[in-house]
Amino acid sequence: MLRTNTCGELNSNNIKQTVTLCGWVQKSRDLGGMTFIDLRDRYGITQLVFNMETNKELCEQARKLGREFVIKATGVVTERSNKNAKIATGDIEIMVDELSILNVSKTPPFTIEDETDGGDDLRMKYRYLDLRRNPVRENLILRSKIGKVTRDYLDSLNFIEVETPVLIKSTPEGARDFLVPSRMNQGQFYALPQSPQTFKQLLMVAGFDRYFQIVKCFRDEDLRADRQPEFTQIDCEMSFVSQQDILDTFEGLMIELFKKVLHVDIPKLPVMTFADAMEHYGNDKPDIRFDMKIKGFTPPLSKGEGVAELVKGRGFKVFDDAESVLAICAKGAASYTRKQIDELTEWVKRPQIGATGLVYMRWNDEGLKSSVDKFYNEDDLKQWAELCGAEKGDLILILAGAEKKTRKAMSELRLEMGNRLGLRKQGDFKCLWVVDFPLLEFDDESGRWHAMHHPFTSPKPEDIHLLENNPGAVRANAYDMVINGVEVGGGSIRIFDKTLQAKMFDLLGFTPEDAQAQFGFLMNAFEFGAPPHGGLAFGFDRICSLFGGSDSIRDFIAFPKNNSGRDVMIDSPSEIDKKQLDELGVSVK
Ligand code: ASP
Repeated sequence: MLRTNTCGELNSNNIKQTVTLCGWVQKSRDLGGMTFIDLRDRYGITQLVFNMETNKELCEQARKLGREFVIKATGVVTERSNKNAKIATGDIEIMVDELSILNVSKTPPFTIEDETDGGDDLRMKYRYLDLRRNPVRENLILRSKIGKVTRDYLDSLNFIEVETPVLIKSTPEGARDFLVPSRMNQGQFYALPQSPQTFKQLLMVAGFDRYFQIVKCFRDEDLRADRQPEFTQIDCEMSFVSQQDILDTFEGLMIELFKKVLHVDIPKLPVMTFADAMEHYGNDKPDIRFDMKIKGFTPPLSKGEGVAELVKGRGFKVFDDAESVLAICAKGAASYTRKQIDELTEWVKRPQIGATGLVYMRWNDEGLKSSVDKFYNEDDLKQWAELCGAEKGDLILILAGAEKKTRKAMSELRLEMGNRLGLRKQGDFKCLWVVDFPLLEFDDESGRWHAMHHPFTSPKPEDIHLLENNPGAVRANAYDMVINGVEVGGGSIRIFDKTLQAKMFDLLGFTPEDAQAQFGFLMNAFEFGAPPHGGLAFGFDRICSLFGGSDSIRDFIAFPKNNSGRDVMIDSPSEIDKKQLDELGVSVK
């Protein structure tokens, strides 16, 4: 090694030792006859000292070093008179007596500090400089650690990591494929995998029993903070298991990750049905860090115990005409001012939320008061309060309209109130399983059924008889793991019977010929002794961002793409020259 130590490890135990360090010049200061340089590497910062009196030539050389120069310095570890408790090496400094410049640097386009002056675009263009900054590097170290703990855990349970191909045929995860033209098979295209779904199932047919892979997946979708066109999954599959076995195995992984990476003990995960999640939280990925469940004046989705008469038939047209009237109780928010409520009303009316208005009732020292007092007396309001579990000091917020839209809007309002009341605390982790998803969902646009998870998901055996006449009521052996309102993973028990799989394709609108052409390989494999199997995939980037306390997965990817799917550093995607296109047999309009 060119160095004896790193810039993060020397302390008072090393005093009097002669050491050699290598790194980047973070900062340099001239004070009287001395020059101080903060030398940085991946491990930390160490202060170098040059003295004009004892070594003028060396000190003058040090004074010429620019920011981000790469240097090698040899000297003696000395106790600092001015200690810095903020850094690990803050008790010592190096009195340098040999210095060499390993490389010079242009002045970087932004400061390489924790709080940088560089905007997003600039930092992405010079991502290699951005990656020199502590917070970004720490995110990637966290990512590496999560990968390591995952591998160790799965290895200890006999999982085998198997790589699956990247140039494949379309996989049906419901997004658009990225395509790659084949030069050797002109006019034909590979698709990049949206997931290794069919391959991992084939590995089960092959008898691998327990598979995993930390693997890149590709989906050509519009991007958001928690989406990238290429992202990473912890992809897993097991044979001879029940749904419960899978839940146990993979909540074990999550418990291990929390323990080893964040040093947090989380309990066994509670299980909530999809129907309950929708009813109480309006959402299949509920944030259960706070309660504030949705209450229905109209019959809830699963039970018929609505109390419509509390709101309907009193002359208030909005409630009379509404399919659903839903409420939440914001604890302690009765002190909300008129202005705050007006602001909330504007908030729910934004197109993204889409409510037509907001009704409220507050319970403060003056008693119960609502925005619709014209139609309802105090007795009614008392019953509203009772239904919502409200006490003095609380604020009830009510939305009304079409069921699906209103429940979704209420789910958003609940999360917003959770934010405003500080109930969605960073560092508080609440994990759960959501189970019993519907097998299918009806897509109004195409006018047909779609697989809610993917077409290989097994219906619950007790619901199979409904497939023919009431497909929407069929539940799947499918599950999602949700943490703090984020879906971090999901999977299912698979169909492993050719006839049922063919029936599923039929329901999804595939002709037998289409199904054979696209998935014949899997159905054929099912004829050679396919074991019962199931699995799941975690969004690796999402777990990283959740553990790192950020909403953006981009911060945890070394070289991410921007919102237009561009890598601005390497300038990709880019045009291809004519010769290359001709070779591929591709023409571009
Ligand atoms: N392939 C699925 C996905 O990417 C996960 C699974 O079913 O195992 O969502």
